[in-house]
Amino acid sequence: MVAFPTETVYGLGANAWDASAVEDIFRAKGRPANDPLIVHVAEFDQLTTVACDVPELAWDLGRRFWPGALTLVLKKSARIPANVTSGLETVAVRVPDHPIATALLEAAAVPIAAPSANRFSAPSPTRAQHVLDDLGDAVDIVLDAGETAIGVESTILSLVDGMPRLLRPGGVPLEDLLELIPGLGYSPHFLGEEDVAPAPGALLKHYSPRARLLLIRGDDAAVRAAIGAEIARHPNSGALVFDADAAALSHLDLKIERLGNDNRQAARRLFAAMRALDAKGVDLIIARAPRRRGLGLALWDRLLRAAEGAVIDV
Ligand code: AMP
Ligand code: MG
Repeated sequence: MVAFPTETVYGLGANAWDASAVEDIFRAKGRPANDPLIVHVAEFDQLTTVACDVPELAWDLGRRFWPGALTLVLKKSARIPANVTSGLETVAVRVPDHPIATALLEAAAVPIAAPSANRFSAPSPTRAQHVLDDLGDAVDIVLDAGETAIGVESTILSLVDGMPRLLRPGGVPLEDLLELIPGLGYSPHFLGEEDVAPAPGALLKHYSPRARLLLIRGDDAAVRAAIGAEIARHPNSGALVFDADAAALSHLDLKIERLGNDNRQAARRLFAAMRALDAKGVDLIIARAPRRRGLGLALWDRLLRAAEGAVIDV
């Protein structure tokens, strides 16, 4: 098991051909066996070693977006062990865009199955220290390449049931996919823990800090007023805000983590900021709901899941 950087978040990788190595990943993360892993390959022509019946659209997407933060769900090749895909007949594949990930894949000369290198359902790791904080001695090697560039996970697109389906918004914005897939939308169906999951990764609770999270949605002035009011009501709370909000809220004695000026910066900082507020011991995190454009859709998705659906409209 090797934890390694990608352009999205740190992954916890093992030889994708080796079922017992893959088993170690599930154990180290405390990840349920029904949550499948993403298989990473060094170059996109290796797709056919892990997937079969690859449609033309997959090659078109690969040429346009790989290496990059797009994961494709395809029909699995027989050689992929069942635990990688949680028994599904499909496999998630991507070519990461990071020199260390590429070097690792080339040195290993096998596809690498890797989920994010965090404790199951915790915020994803964007720094090597997050991996150590979560997994400690459970992981053999951590390759440290500093902070990851994108900061949220890959976009997951399924190409197995006729119509392409966006399963998870991520580092490649939906708007970019529209160039090749006109009309593609995102209509998530979130599941509670009590549901029997028909599709992996659909759990509403995910990416969660220890503190409860509350999302506030509305125009700038109303959101700032509501953040102020919620903070006043909950003395041990903190806030995740954009820089412009932080300036407007500076009169309050807040535990604030700034997300920067735009969605790109916010994506890079989001998970580290959640972890930082947890480290400050707050029991409630109040956050502005981002606008769902560009990387904002992935931010919205992560925040909504971290909040387990708790949104206030103002
Ligand atoms: P992680 O890398 O930790 O974000 O986890 C990988 C995610 O990829 C899973 O939680 C699923 O949402 C998704 N995934 C992996 N394999 C499949 C598959 N065969 N079908 C649908 N989604 C998948
Ligand atoms: Mg994960």
